Amino acid sequence: MSFASLGLCATILEALQAEGYTTPTPIQEQAIPAVLARRDVMAAAQTGTGKTAGFTLPMLEILKDGERAKPNEARVLILTPTRELAAQVGESVETYAKGLKLSSAVVFGGVKINPQMMKLRRGVDILVATPGRLLDLYQQNAVRFPKLEILVLDEADRMLDMGFIHDIKRIIKALPPKRQNLLFSATFSDEIRDLAKGLVNDPVEISVSPRNTTAERVEQVIYPVLKADKPNMLMALLRQLDLPQVLVFSRTKHGANRLVKQLDKGGFLATAIHGNKSQGARTKALHEFKTGKVQILVATDIAARGLDIDQLPFVVNYDLPQVAEDYVHRIGRTGRAGASGNAISLVEGDEVKLLKAVERLIKQEIPQQYLEGFTKVDLSKAKPAPKPARGGQQRGGRAQGSGRPGGSGGARSGNRSQGGRS
Ligand code: AMP
Repeated sequence: MSFASLGLCATILEALQAEGYTTPTPIQEQAIPAVLARRDVMAAAQTGTGKTAGFTLPMLEILKDGERAKPNEARVLILTPTRELAAQVGESVETYAKGLKLSSAVVFGGVKINPQMMKLRRGVDILVATPGRLLDLYQQNAVRFPKLEILVLDEADRMLDMGFIHDIKRIIKALPPKRQNLLFSATFSDEIRDLAKGLVNDPVEISVSPRNTTAERVEQVIYPVLKADKPNMLMALLRQLDLPQVLVFSRTKHGANRLVKQLDKGGFLATAIHGNKSQGARTKALHEFKTGKVQILVATDIAARGLDIDQLPFVVNYDLPQVAEDYVHRIGRTGRAGASGNAISLVEGDEVKLLKAVERLIKQEIPQQYLEGFTKVDLSKAKPAPKPARGGQQRGGRAQGSGRPGGSGGARSGNRSQGGRS
C-alpha cells in the first residue's frame, strides 16, 4: 500500500517523501480513506501509531480545495489534552501542509492570550487547541465556527481523565451540527463511548492497536530495588547503558525535581518536565533534550503525554504509575512506529500492587533482572504497602523481605547478564 493509492495529492505526497515516510501505517491505511469519504471516525490508537498523520493528511486533502477561512473563523478544530500535544500536532500540520496554501494556528493556556487573538483575526483553516484556552478565546469572540467542517478530538481518553468533559461539551455546542467528527482515543472506556454517542454519527470504527500491542513490541524488564537504592541504581544503569537520550518517568512532580538534583550530583545532565513548570520552561526542557544538550528528561505522566520525541531507544520507570494504563502510555514512548524499544522499571516492595495491575493489563509477566552491587530484593515476598498515615508520607524503610544478602551464589544465579541488553 502506498500513500498515492490512498488518494492524496502530489503536494502532500512530496511533503511525506521529504519526511521519509514510504508506507502508511495501519491506522493511516484505514483512517485516510474513511476521512476522505467524509465519514465520522472512531479510532482506538495510541501515540506512536502514526495517528496524527492519519487524521491530518486526509483533512488537508479535503481543505485544500475548499474556500479559505473567513476572519475569526476556523474550518477544522483539533482539540488536544495538553499544550505539548497541541504544539506537536500543530508542527505536524505545518510539515504535511508545506506547499498547500492553508493557514493554521495553535492555541493553549499558560501563555498570553493576545498574540493568539491576533493570529485568529484573519481566520485559520486549521486550529489546534486545548479546551480551556479555546473556550476563553470563544468567549472573547476571537473565534467562531459557523463553517466548521471537521472536528478532531485527539487523545479523547486523556481529555476526560484531565476533567475536560464539560469544556468539550460547551465547545461542541458552539459548532454547527453538520460537520465531520473524528475521535481518537488510546482506549475506549464507557466514558468515551458515552461521549461518542452524542458526537459521532454512524462512525467507521478503527482499532489498530489494542492496548497491549505496544507492550508486545517493547522489551521490558524490572529491576527489583530497595527504595533507598533507587537513585544509585538508576545512575548505575545509565552508566552501563551509555545512552545518548533517556526518558525517565516519575510519579510526582517533587519526585521528578528531587531526582534531577540527584542525577545532577551524580554528574548527569538532566532536566524535568511537569505541570508546575511554566510553558517556557517546559518548551526549553524539551528542546534541550531533543537537541542532546541534556541526556535525561525526567517527566511526570501528564507532562509526558504527547511528547513527540522520535525513536527513543529507552524509557525508564523510576517509579510505577498509579494507573496501570499509564504504564502502557509510558512505554509507548519507546519503539515508536515499528521500531523496537526498551523499558526498564525500578520496582520497590511498596509497588508490587501497582506492578501486578500492570502485568494484568498487559497480560504478561515482566522479566526481572538484578544488578550487581545492590541488595537483592525479592518482590514475591514483599508485603503490600501499608495505608499511608493521614497526611503523612509513606516511607520505604521496610526491607520488603528481601533479606538475603547479595553475595551468595544464589544471588548471582538469578542474575541474567545486565547491561548486555540490546
Ligand atoms: P503519532 O502516533 O501521530 O504520534 O506518530 C508517531 C511518529 O511516527 C511520529 O514521529 C511520526 O512522524 C511518525 N510517522 C507517522 N506516520 C509515519 C509513516 N507512515 N512512516 C514513518 N513514520 C511515520
